[in-house]
Amino acid sequence: MTNQNLIAIAKEYGSPVYVYDAAKIESQYNRLTSAFKKVKNLRVNYAVKALSNLAVLQLIHSFGAGMDTVSIQEVRLALAAGIDPAKIMFTPNGVSLDELEEVAKMGVQINIDNLSILEQFGTKHPKTPVCVRINPHVMAGGNTNISVGHIDSKFGISIHQIPHLLRIVKNTGMNINGIHMHTGSDILDIDVFLHAAEILFDTAKDFKDLEFLDFGSGFKVPYKEGDIETNIEELGDKLSSRFNKFEKSYGKALTLVFEPGKFLVSEAGKFLANVNVIKQTTSTVFAQIDSGFNHLIRPMFYGSRHEITNISNPKGRERFYSVVGYICETDTFATNRRIAEIAEGNILAFSNAGAYCFSMASNYNSRLRPAEVLFIEGEAQLIRKRETFDDLLRHQIPLKQTVKA
Ligand SMILES: *Cc1c(COP(=O)(O)O)cnc(C)c1O
Repeated sequence: MTNQNLIAIAKEYGSPVYVYDAAKIESQYNRLTSAFKKVKNLRVNYAVKALSNLAVLQLIHSFGAGMDTVSIQEVRLALAAGIDPAKIMFTPNGVSLDELEEVAKMGVQINIDNLSILEQFGTKHPKTPVCVRINPHVMAGGNTNISVGHIDSKFGISIHQIPHLLRIVKNTGMNINGIHMHTGSDILDIDVFLHAAEILFDTAKDFKDLEFLDFGSGFKVPYKEGDIETNIEELGDKLSSRFNKFEKSYGKALTLVFEPGKFLVSEAGKFLANVNVIKQTTSTVFAQIDSGFNHLIRPMFYGSRHEITNISNPKGRERFYSVVGYICETDTFATNRRIAEIAEGNILAFSNAGAYCFSMASNYNSRLRPAEVLFIEGEAQLIRKRETFDDLLRHQIPLKQTVKA
């Protein structure tokens, strides 16, 4: 996907617009599966919440992936994308028993992450296979917003509660067919991950009817040059050997499952926005774009750094800018960032815009959500129309009375 491709897409579909490179998603998928080629039964379930466009689900499914979902609506999206329920996993947190039952009825593998619902579900449906999410209490990365395995986390069943879990399984006669963990979104240290994996293996040996072990995700991808990323090849090498050894001692074939979101789609995405205004104040030069945290919330919400390039003037002399949006609230994308000289009307491209960008977009300030385009086999394919004003009005009900001024 070249700058020319992106400029042409912004021209054709307008601004702002999200663009995803199918070839990059595929190469990331292949990178992950080849790192684990020594494992006989590997399953990659794409975490739908990262980027939930139907066309993207279909694309990733075409590589052989299943889907990991966190809401019944995501399950329905995956079904609408034509994916077999047997290839969908439901890994919610804090949902009602009703929602779990409804999803289980669809033939989707459910994953339960608390003892209360586990006991209720097991009592009512002892025959439905259930995966349990454990919390190994291993701290992944430094950001507690995205690290979900630590002691105070709301996710998973604490490993200290395994005896209680086992009693529930025994009393209800329910069938536990998988053990799952997902420690968060920033694995930098492979040894930490392997340590959590050991806890999962140790837990797994107490369950006799397992079909799979799900190691979640949390693979870190680079956001800027020199960033540390998860060394997938090294992880693949070490975890594969350990998994194969465990499988042998367990005495039964097991599937190794991962559920990556960011790893598959983050780097494939670009967010393109037009520069409306260059505003020089006493201390700063602002480049104000036709977007805001309503379309890309990660810099404001997580402090994420997204590389920004001026694709209209890539060879221009570099200057320092604060890139901000048009929302009536502070919405800063970048401060004091070195970018090739920007003129009003230039198009800026934000990198790593595939994961948790469009899927977290909102209509704040009554702005419309952008279009999405998939760049596939050298062609740009529109995969979501830009919203229109009618979309904002839909579902709103005007006041019945005539109101006097
Ligand atoms: C969000 C999520 C993932 C994906 O995490 P990434 O960091 O995007 O790879 C996987 N599993 C579960 C249960 C999740 O909630």
